[in-house]
Amino acid sequence: MALAEQRARHARGEKYAGHAEMCKWLTAWRNAPSTAWLAQGPSQAQQQVLRRLDEAYKRFFAAAKAGQAGGRGRTGPPEFKRYGDEPGIRFPDPKQFSLDAPNGRIQLPKLGWVRLRMSQPVEGKLRNVSITKEGSGKGAKWFASIQVETNETVPALGIEPTLGIDLGLAQFAAFSEEVLCTAGNGNAPRALQHHVAPLKALAKQQVRLKRYQRSVARKKKGSANRKKAVAKLGNLHRRIAHQRNDWLHKLSTDLADAHPVIALEDLRIRNMSASAKGTVEAPGKMVRLKAGLNRGILDAAWGEFARQLSYKVEWRGGRVILVNPAYTSRTCRICAHEDAENRKSQALFECVACGHAENADVHASKNILAAGHAVWARASKDASLDACGGEVSRGRRASAGRAAPSKQEPTEAKVLV
Ligand SMILES: [Zn+2]
Repeated sequence: MALAEQRARHARGEKYAGHAEMCKWLTAWRNAPSTAWLAQGPSQAQQQVLRRLDEAYKRFFAAAKAGQAGGRGRTGPPEFKRYGDEPGIRFPDPKQFSLDAPNGRIQLPKLGWVRLRMSQPVEGKLRNVSITKEGSGKGAKWFASIQVETNETVPALGIEPTLGIDLGLAQFAAFSEEVLCTAGNGNAPRALQHHVAPLKALAKQQVRLKRYQRSVARKKKGSANRKKAVAKLGNLHRRIAHQRNDWLHKLSTDLADAHPVIALEDLRIRNMSASAKGTVEAPGKMVRLKAGLNRGILDAAWGEFARQLSYKVEWRGGRVILVNPAYTSRTCRICAHEDAENRKSQALFECVACGHAENADVHASKNILAAGHAVWARASKDASLDACGGEVSRGRRASAGRAAPSKQEPTEAKVLV
């Protein structure tokens, strides 16, 4: 309504009305008989919607002033919500809601006590709560995101990397030393481990995902059945993302708690490598994994893992160092001999020169840790150099002219035709 009013004013050549003025309109609408239904909702939440509209307009005005408005990807004027846009409201004042964590409920204006399942403990001073809806139909879910204020103590830097992480296909992650963390089946108790397998639930969902995708493809475009199938597919995608994120949060928290400075392979380099999307001879062909995980799901999980780990480590005053993964899986960490033959199988690394044998993923993670040390040393020498995005691998660098050599993971990936 406020957006329609702003557009009408603009058409009449009147000036833009700011947030305070829009709030006056809201009061009038809440009191008018034809729009009295508005009064059933909490006014502060409705004022927040006007606040967001005001901010959207201000962004548009600023972009227009800078000559960047309009066009694809540019900041345009606010648009009306469309059917299917996921709704959400924010209660900006901590006085408006109270949380009863022991009994799993939250009190919201006009709604009263609502049951909820706590995904994590809420610590600190409550600031505000946002209620959002995801999905539609039977699969729809409501979420409460509570913002809190806490006092973080940030320790000083100056610590060497202590953990190297290799991300892989059969094993989601391998560590240079054992870490107390959750396993790949999600609910198992935490244990000291060198590897974490991909979440089993994701492989199961994978089967269902394919079925739903086929179901959508079979339905006629524009039909009601297709819409239903698309909604079902969308709900499943969200479900997968939630399961994945929940598991990744547990894992990344465990790692960030145990190690302040962590070396991780740079996924941007990895994703450019040939093995990620197919071979040079057959570009773009999907690579199927024995673990049963779709490449897209795995890529998304790796990306989200790197993101979570980075911010959690930084919150604790540490740093994630990104290193080029090239050669880390086939260069002997003992004698530095580099040879594709060193990788005997998915599981085994055995150096053809010195005979050093070790679990292949753990060996690679130790190489990544060593590369992390080198990046860290350079970064410390030159404070202006960003420690993230290093390109060190056992003293070798991939030249810029050619694509980085692919990571060798011989037995588990096969090309689907
Ligand atoms: Zn060797």
